[in-house]
Amino acid sequence: MSTILNGAAYPPTLTEEETADLTVALRDWSLSHGLVIRAPAAVHPEDEASVHVPLTLHPSPFPKKLFDQARNLQTAFNELYAKVADDSKFLTEITKELAGVDDFMSDLWKLHLEVEEITQGVPTQPLSLGLFRSDYLLHATGTAEPSLRQVELNTISASFGGLSSRAADCHRFLQKSALYGSGPGSELLKDGTMPVNPSARSLAKGLGVAHNAYGASESIVLFVVQPGERNAFDQRWLEYYLLEDFGVVSVRASLEEVAEFGELDLASKEFRYKGRHVAVVYYRAGYTPTDYTTPATWEARKTMELSKAIKCPTLATHFAGAKKVQQVLVDELVLGKFVPDNEVRDKLKGIFADILPLDDSELGKKARKLIGTCPEKYVLKPQREGGGNNVYRDKIPGFLKDLKDETLWRGYILMELIEPPQDVRNLIIRAGKVTEGNVISELGVFGCVLWDSTTHEIKQNFEAGWLLRTKFADSEEGGVAAGFGSIDSVLLI
Ligand code: ADP
Ligand code: MG
Repeated sequence: MSTILNGAAYPPTLTEEETADLTVALRDWSLSHGLVIRAPAAVHPEDEASVHVPLTLHPSPFPKKLFDQARNLQTAFNELYAKVADDSKFLTEITKELAGVDDFMSDLWKLHLEVEEITQGVPTQPLSLGLFRSDYLLHATGTAEPSLRQVELNTISASFGGLSSRAADCHRFLQKSALYGSGPGSELLKDGTMPVNPSARSLAKGLGVAHNAYGASESIVLFVVQPGERNAFDQRWLEYYLLEDFGVVSVRASLEEVAEFGELDLASKEFRYKGRHVAVVYYRAGYTPTDYTTPATWEARKTMELSKAIKCPTLATHFAGAKKVQQVLVDELVLGKFVPDNEVRDKLKGIFADILPLDDSELGKKARKLIGTCPEKYVLKPQREGGGNNVYRDKIPGFLKDLKDETLWRGYILMELIEPPQDVRNLIIRAGKVTEGNVISELGVFGCVLWDSTTHEIKQNFEAGWLLRTKFADSEEGGVAAGFGSIDSVLLI
């Protein structure tokens, strides 16, 4: 069995008293440094209290070589997805596959086409901003060295960049305070193996750079958010750094509020929210059908898309993050169209897992066969974001059978299960309660890209820090907000 710790003792064993001290220190540091999430409304109906975010007590080990590899891929992924977003013909073909089987994705594309028609193919704002996050699990079968596999690439509302910087700082504080003890394994925890994570500032820089490029100093950044968002503080950190580093003010609004208080100036094409000129619209909502509560919320998205404000993301960039797009890009010929450089293409391909369509193609037939013979090796995914939507292993055949008819299968992709190393343990604190167990960590690498969607010129492209999310090995999904996982930081080994 392939491992990443090679038998090293980790995390260091602590006495009950030491664990209690560590827990108190971690909780207080989190509360005093904004490593927090809004308390569930059921506990605090007044909605004003915050609690520490679910967090690992120790940073989880991650091979430095693979960490560097993931970070080094990010600018290439930024460029790839910018190109995909600009290729309306390619995306139109993909939407044909989803027509009639996925209303939400179809509606997004319809809205994009409607906007294209109104603007006669010349976008009101050629600049487009992407704050992406590419997610990876370690794959470790047999005795082979672990390698990196991409889970997905998020083009909208990629979260936890704000809190992720704090989590690294928290673990660094605990180490410096000698709270990790001196038992076996504690020697792995040191300044050089626990990197500072720049994600919060770097993502704010992405917004700041776009604001500068827009070129109206008094204008604001509009954060479009879900009403009652529990993860609001993660977003707040970007807002605070944007003000601190760029002098730019942010305003938060739900799609409903945008519908009520937003307006497009027809002459200048400026977008105004409660009278304030908006330079950048940053979506932390709008990625899931339930965010569109009324026709007016769709109209609000359309109005912003029609405006001169820089969108993060545009409808096309949002759509480019569809799992169906990820599946199609696994094909070397398709990838080659967007990534002509052999060396770069090989680097990207090297971390792709096998992903198959469930259509009438040869690959689709192969997928059907695999579901019949070895479903335990696969995960089935719909075109959704936000966690909790996937179907795993032996549940796949029954789930598909229960769909109304086989034409609906086209809305899903079948992905090979990545097999993370099994030898890592950690403790997770959630709502004050500490639990220990075997864990699996998912690395996300953030990327910022600002480009001109008409000339395809890349104006800015940089990697923007990372996120480590950790869950117990017996839970399939790792969503922190969804209640499955925790925030973590990397211990480079
Ligand atoms: P979402 O858009 O809902 O975040 P993901 O594709 O990221 O969808 O899947 C959610 C979670 O399911 C991931 O964070 C990961 O824990 C697990 N997962 C997804 N794909 C795989 C895979 N191929 N192998 C193993 N686990 C997976
Ligand atoms: Mg995900």
